[in-house]
Amino acid sequence: MAKNEDNLKDIVSHAKEYGFIFPSSEIYDGLSATYDYGQMGVELKNNIKEYWWKSMVQLHENIVGIDAAIFMHPDTWKASGHVDAFNDPLIDNKDSKKRYRADVLIEEHIEKIQQKIDKEVKKGEKRFGENFDKEQFLATNPNVLRNKKKIEDIEKRMKETLDAGDLEGVYNLIMDLGIACPVSGSKNWTEVRQFNLMFATELGSVSGESAKIYLRPETAQGIFVNFLNVQKTSRLKVPFGIAQIGKAFRNEIIARQFIFRMREFEQMEMQFFVRPGEEMKWYEHWKEKRIKWHKKLGLGEDLYRFHDHIKLAHYANAACDIEFKFPMGFKELEGIHSRTDFDLKQHEKLSGKKLQYFDSELNKNYTPYVIETSIGLDRMFLAVLSASLKTETLENGTQRTVLSIPPALAPYKVAVMPLTKKDGLPEKAREIMNDLKYAFNCQYDEKDSPGKRYRRQDAIGTPYSVMVDHQTLEDNTVTIRDRDTMQQERIKIENLKEMISKKVSMEEFLK
Ligand code: ATP
Repeated sequence: MAKNEDNLKDIVSHAKEYGFIFPSSEIYDGLSATYDYGQMGVELKNNIKEYWWKSMVQLHENIVGIDAAIFMHPDTWKASGHVDAFNDPLIDNKDSKKRYRADVLIEEHIEKIQQKIDKEVKKGEKRFGENFDKEQFLATNPNVLRNKKKIEDIEKRMKETLDAGDLEGVYNLIMDLGIACPVSGSKNWTEVRQFNLMFATELGSVSGESAKIYLRPETAQGIFVNFLNVQKTSRLKVPFGIAQIGKAFRNEIIARQFIFRMREFEQMEMQFFVRPGEEMKWYEHWKEKRIKWHKKLGLGEDLYRFHDHIKLAHYANAACDIEFKFPMGFKELEGIHSRTDFDLKQHEKLSGKKLQYFDSELNKNYTPYVIETSIGLDRMFLAVLSASLKTETLENGTQRTVLSIPPALAPYKVAVMPLTKKDGLPEKAREIMNDLKYAFNCQYDEKDSPGKRYRRQDAIGTPYSVMVDHQTLEDNTVTIRDRDTMQQERIKIENLKEMISKKVSMEEFLK
């Protein structure tokens, strides 16, 4: 039986031990919330990127990609609202000296109430068995109704205070709910303050004479300012999309939980430009497409849920998150936002340049509306890792650690092993590897017993291991072992490529 590792600590240590993720500049004791991807990590990360890029760009005739610079003209961030409004409300606990995002504290409080509702539903399921009607239960059970009302009231107050920038109101809400610091357990809070999340630096070498610029906090603005460049040179017609993968930087107040919240991270974003008035149709379209993209990986359907935003960002008229069940609970993995024409209009205003589209079918100019899909690559990495890392107890009572990564994402697709280091077996294994390496990322492994080698490959998620033995020299057959079933099969060397490809290739997976 497979047991999901629900412990973030296990994931962190596995990621380090097998070369997926190291703390950044570790020899200097690291830098908080900054991580380096190791030799395995970079492969997995590249494969996730490939899955996203091919699904979004290559498989859509009307979506193209760009790679914009991280540095942008400082007016970009005035136009986008980030200089004035990209703030988080922060609060400190005076006893633990820990800093929190006030809105996150409140959301976690809401989640606790939601868990009470879920518990009540489970109890109902047990009591009524097959006759259980969940809809009816949720609509009539007094405990559920009371807790639902509580959540509604809190959400309403949170939205009102945050929208109005009423920081005292946010503080009062935290006090009224009796929220305590998870570390010290005390309710001894400072006032709530705003904190801008952008990193600033200076362009030019002489401090004082130089201009203040920012490290981009999202990749989206590089797409907006290039909207017409791309449209004109590609001759794409609305609706069309522009996609980008790249680094983003945010001076997060609390950056913990491993690669879930970092100060330097990578985003995969797509802005889809549509006719004004058609944005809700496309918003629903992209919600459905994106959740399908996630579920196709087969990590588990019940690991995803939608969460509608209560407090909409300054640019949005509808927004939701796809949340994933990380080891620390359901958290945002991807955002889908209807950004209206806010960004393009703002850039028109500040730059003085027209950013309009001429729709030949309608015979008129307009500023397109935008639906954005925005996913954190690092969060996606953590999602894959946390859902795939398992400890299994085998029939003989021993345990194995296996990373059952979707094969198309696995860092290595196949390990080639000679049974022993003599009798010409290594040479034969190398010969096979030299043929396979043009098609797949392969690893050659001859050290330790076969059992140990198989365990090592299981731990890094290699879907197939090919063993070269004495029979290979006689009849050109090898055994191939499947990571998930641990079954071994004897096949002809000439059939290896086709068999492996069926299971691991991105092409097959996308089809
Ligand atoms: P959160 O509420 O968790 O701070 P957000 O709503 O600010 O996230 P968006 O601005 O919608 O996030 O960014 C889009 C995506 O970028 C998120 O869904 C997430 O996957 C990723 N992301 C945002 N901030 C970080 C971060 N600090 N570290 C890693 N990934 C991040």
